[in-house]
Amino acid sequence: MTTTNTRVVLSRHPVGEATPDCFSIETQPLEDLQAGMVRVAVDYISVDAGTRTMLKGEGFHNQVGLGETILAGGVGRIVASTVEGWEIGQVVRGGLGAQSVATVAPELLEPIDDSRAPAQAYLGALSESTGITAWIGVRDVAKPQKGDVFVVSAAAGAVGSIAGQIARIDGARVIGIAGGKRKTDYLLNELGFDAAIDYKNEDVSERLRALAPDGVNIFYDNVGGPILDAVLDNLAMQARVVICGAVSQYDDMDNVIGPSNYLRLAERQSTMAGFAYFHFADSFAPAAAELSQWLAEGRLVLPEEILEGVERYPEALQFMFYGGNLGKLLVKVN
Ligand code: NAP
Repeated sequence: MTTTNTRVVLSRHPVGEATPDCFSIETQPLEDLQAGMVRVAVDYISVDAGTRTMLKGEGFHNQVGLGETILAGGVGRIVASTVEGWEIGQVVRGGLGAQSVATVAPELLEPIDDSRAPAQAYLGALSESTGITAWIGVRDVAKPQKGDVFVVSAAAGAVGSIAGQIARIDGARVIGIAGGKRKTDYLLNELGFDAAIDYKNEDVSERLRALAPDGVNIFYDNVGGPILDAVLDNLAMQARVVICGAVSQYDDMDNVIGPSNYLRLAERQSTMAGFAYFHFADSFAPAAAELSQWLAEGRLVLPEEILEGVERYPEALQFMFYGGNLGKLLVKVN
């Protein structure tokens, strides 16, 4: 019987890097469950790059106030309920927060079928903010044609690795950009990418000139900064640059540095388009159906890096921004 909740709280706004001392861990007794509420024992918490932008008022994402529980997606099991139709034992997904027990209104929950895929896959390949984001960015925005040179950054991370795999399924020639040999080896040997660039040890622009002498047709960008500039310098005519995110800028959202090579867009008659998954609700169902099928067929893979214990969430977030994670980063709670 669960009697306490352990939660990760924002104790100070990060300046620069979100180090673990920006968070505190609090354990409190659970209060009686109020009418209309459901209690969920959280099994896995999703660790997402976008969370960094919620820790110091930027305006695009919801913000976490001082003393509040860190916002995060999670999966878990209902352990108490006052609402008909939400029964004990049901596996659910929702904005459960970085905590061990979430007490929430059922409107915030979605039942999931963990016989179709393991529950944590609903935070990764089958999640709106990971696999479905990648699907939307590729299918609704980038729209690669067979033979296109498709470059993706943060290519060994959760969104990037799925975006690259979808582009390969669609017949593009995929080049992944990631940090370190462990990640580039993974892209080449496990995901079958056509080429990989280690931006920490190689000159991205030089490598792109060699790997794609006729230019890059599509750039699916997750990091911004110098990598975006290097790819802009190597665009083909009528290329498309898709802005999914800009991890390299998240530590200082008040002073985001834009690309200096943006005039290549004019020269090469190219376009840059950003997107946020929540504007593409009509795509959620077809994306989830296709992603589940590819997962079942083994055509799509997303490894998980798992840190155990809710109190390790701050460490996990830092691990992600140091580029530690390969695939989807999760914190296992119960
Ligand atoms: P992730 O890719 O699993 O992890 C982030 C990765 O970024 C790290 O593993 C690291 O890999 C790389 N990175 C960190 N700092 C970097 C830097 N300074 N320069 C270059 N690379 C750096 O994270 P995710 O949660 O899947 O998110 C990926 C991107 O998708 C983020 O930009 C996020 O904001 C975006 N996103 C967008 C939407 C949308 O609707 N548009 C929705 C969800 C997520 P390396 O070792 O390779 O550096």
